[in-house]
Amino acid sequence: MLPKIAFIGTGGTIASIGSDQFDLLDYNAGEKRLDAASLIERVGLQATIADIVPVNFRRIDSTAMTPGDWADLADTCYGLAEDPELKGIVIGHGTASLEETAWALSLVLDLDIPVTLTGSMRPLTGISTDANANLAAAIRVAAAPNLPPGVFVVVNDEIHAPRSVTKTHTLRLGAFQSPWTGPLGVVDGPHVRLTRAEQGRPPLFPRSLLRDLPRVDIAYSHVGADGCAINAFVAAGARGIVSAGFGPGMATPAEIAALGAAVEAGITVVQSARTGAGLVVDSARHRSLGIIAGGDLNPQKARILLSLCLARGDSRDEIERIFQAP
Ligand code: ASP
Repeated sequence: MLPKIAFIGTGGTIASIGSDQFDLLDYNAGEKRLDAASLIERVGLQATIADIVPVNFRRIDSTAMTPGDWADLADTCYGLAEDPELKGIVIGHGTASLEETAWALSLVLDLDIPVTLTGSMRPLTGISTDANANLAAAIRVAAAPNLPPGVFVVVNDEIHAPRSVTKTHTLRLGAFQSPWTGPLGVVDGPHVRLTRAEQGRPPLFPRSLLRDLPRVDIAYSHVGADGCAINAFVAAGARGIVSAGFGPGMATPAEIAALGAAVEAGITVVQSARTGAGLVVDSARHRSLGIIAGGDLNPQKARILLSLCLARGDSRDEIERIFQAP
């Protein structure tokens, strides 16, 4: 008997219809995206590798995804998981914000079955599209008997952890990578293999918090940055600020002054880095200002974790402990 797998469609390039097979860039303008049921039918996957239950959720570009959509997605996953026969859930998603949705869901889902997210770099109708292969691989992973429960990103025959995966290229097929750590595993046809253990499972948060996240902004450092953006975020009512600093995890002197003033005003500040990989470790300077070192999380993921901590009412010290856990 084939494993029963739910497929939730949210839109994105993986569901997009271009004007012809050479339309690899402008397909978004038409806003033609298939719902989950039509996508599964068109790809011809039904009853081949799984018994697929399509769930029409959204048909949006993932740049339009909101925390409210994450909350609805999480609720949908919990609803589906009530079916004792369901072996796994696959979410089709635009690649633009896929890593953020995967990370947010990994912080709130505590299910007994795996949830995989996938997308594609070329539209469903594009020449040599990766849509069909990525969808099939994500279904294989969700149905794999040797996989622990949890959230996984499956793209380009690789299985990635939400914590480490990031989109590293605007257009290439191999855009999704876990820089400097590598994937958790691979999908070779029907063979799903985990090749390394996931590091540092984050603590779980109640999913209802996603419906009421406080304002948390990201300040991107650059030569000459004067702290104006940080001051504007404070004026806009930010409860938290993530500093996307230079390499080691450092902002400009003017930004550091503005961040220090923000901490004084009761705002929680986390120092991340714009490098795309590597740890931001605690430093004497950050400590003296009350700034929390962001560890291995990139700025957009540090922002989600900080938002959830603040929504839960965690103290500064609790937040620091959560960020510095391995
Ligand atoms: N525009 C697309 C999105 O929904 C990009 C993609 O899916 O590759 O994120």
